[in-house]
Amino acid sequence: MPRLFVAIDLPARIKEQLSALSCGLPGARWIAPEQRHLTVRFIGEVDSRIFQRVREALTEVRGEPFPLRLEGIGFFPPRGHPRVVWVGIRRSDELVRLRKRIESILVRSGLEPEGRKYSPHITLARLNNTPGSRIGAYLAHNGLFRTEEFTVREFNLYSSVLNNRGARHYIEQEYPLDQ
Ligand code: ATP
Ligand code: MG
Repeated sequence: MPRLFVAIDLPARIKEQLSALSCGLPGARWIAPEQRHLTVRFIGEVDSRIFQRVREALTEVRGEPFPLRLEGIGFFPPRGHPRVVWVGIRRSDELVRLRKRIESILVRSGLEPEGRKYSPHITLARLNNTPGSRIGAYLAHNGLFRTEEFTVREFNLYSSVLNNRGARHYIEQEYPLDQ
């Protein structure tokens, strides 16, 4: 069964800026540049009938291009052994609005509503036994990271194929924000 999610891809120059952050943590598995994205709505595994329905329903999402900026770095979970390094997003009402439109269309096409709060971020790395002292040093060095503003002009439906070296993501369909 396809495993799906809706996400925003990042401009190449923004991905390059993220590459500058992708070093300096022992035990980190850094996400490859082409795999970096901003998840808007995780869907999960669905059968091919729902897949087609979702693919079609997302064409009904209306929206306009909007500005976005990446800002801030953090670790998840915030206490205890950190597992994930993420880059944050400057607060964006347009992103929240887009997420709501996508959510309501997905629910209308038969998916369960998303129960969890949306916390937009870009995963940079998964960690395995990274020493706390290195995390402190990494934050001291990179904590003020932010990119310039860029324009989001579309969102994508992705499929994700899991394997033991981490998932591969494939764009199934692009949805321009121009209506
Ligand atoms: P891997 O799990 O192998 O490390 P991945 O997380 O990139 O790879 P998926 O698990 O298929 O691949 O997830 C695809 C996207 O959806 C990622 O951005 C991931 O962070 C996000 N995601 C996965 N599970 C959930 C979930 N339960 N809730 C919200 N977002 C999720
Ligand atoms: Mg995952």
